[in-house]
Amino acid sequence: MRIQGVLSRRRRAIDRRRREIALFARAMESKHHPILAQIIPIRRCNLACTYCNEYDAVSKPVPLDEMLKRIDRLGELGTTIITLSGGEPLLHPQCDQMIQRIRKVGAMATVITNGYLLTPKRIQELNAAGLDYLQISIDNVQPDDTSKKSLKVLDRKLEWLAEHGEFAVTINTVLGADVRTPEDALTIARRARALGFNSTVGVLHDGTGQTKPLPAAQIEVYQQIRQLETSVFSFSHFDRFQTKLVQGLPNEWQCRAGSRFLYICEDGLVHYCSQQRGHPGTPLASYTRADLEREFHSEKACAPHCSISCVHQVAMLDEVREHPREMLTELITRRREINPDFQLPLPLRAAEWAFLENPKRAAALQKAASAILRSSK
Ligand code: SF4
Ligand code: SF4
Repeated sequence: MRIQGVLSRRRRAIDRRRREIALFARAMESKHHPILAQIIPIRRCNLACTYCNEYDAVSKPVPLDEMLKRIDRLGELGTTIITLSGGEPLLHPQCDQMIQRIRKVGAMATVITNGYLLTPKRIQELNAAGLDYLQISIDNVQPDDTSKKSLKVLDRKLEWLAEHGEFAVTINTVLGADVRTPEDALTIARRARALGFNSTVGVLHDGTGQTKPLPAAQIEVYQQIRQLETSVFSFSHFDRFQTKLVQGLPNEWQCRAGSRFLYICEDGLVHYCSQQRGHPGTPLASYTRADLEREFHSEKACAPHCSISCVHQVAMLDEVREHPREMLTELITRRREINPDFQLPLPLRAAEWAFLENPKRAAALQKAASAILRSSK
């Protein structure tokens, strides 16, 4: 039984990687479709974190047929990753049918949850529905007045996820000027790694998505968490955005919210992100490729101090598409900044040879790679 579980998990991981490559190839090939959409099936939450402006205590679930229409529309727009968020999405009684529909339209299926409703049975149901990724944010080691999303409460759930989950799990932890025990973030990140999960660290933002610089002690914790990273390809840790934000410095970048990233609220309206609701505020049913094109180029005044990391990561993918050689150089340089003895793994040595040493060879290989990736769709 146990061997069967391990084999099934491996099979799922290989299948997920194959689809990730195909979707990455599509994101590289075209700028005319959303890479990531967050969609809200229910605004209600079973917790009440004091910093949160994304939940209420009373909303009803969005009817399933309405949610399925929205997922279908995102599929028609060519969305590659669809994330169910909230509120607490697992409070929606038909969450699994939505996951199945996300997979049916050809997108990767993600859930962002506070983890409270996870049990071995619920995890197996999520496996059966075809979930690809699950993300849990854990704010502290012991629950306090600000947040009950604590390691003490959730650790048993994490063990169940490690034992039963066939999807990839990411544990997000937070730093921020108002965080009382920043060293908790390091404890949580280490626990995530020990259980075989990915870990990321976010910076708490205010109600418009903006950040304040971190105190020196928290920057130290942030650096230590970055050093836990082992994969050179991790976008979350190859994060020049956060490196500047924690110091209170602005980032120069083009926010592609409304185009490469969409936030769909419980009323079915498209917004830039959870912190900039009302812009553009257009119904998803009538959101067109012209809207995607307009927002691809629109300037967002909130961009320099924005801390919405999933939108940063989408922007980084576009930068890779537009400047692959420069981004590869930056990727290697940053990894060596964290660890000067870092040796490039074989695929990256090949990429360095292919793309960085000789521009003519790079152009020919890029063409060939793009053709190979297209054929894997
Ligand atoms: S668990 Fe998440 S959605 Fe619920 S109140 Fe806390 S931060 Fe907000
Ligand atoms: S820059 Fe973009 S993602 Fe960040 S708060 Fe503004 S609209 Fe949202």
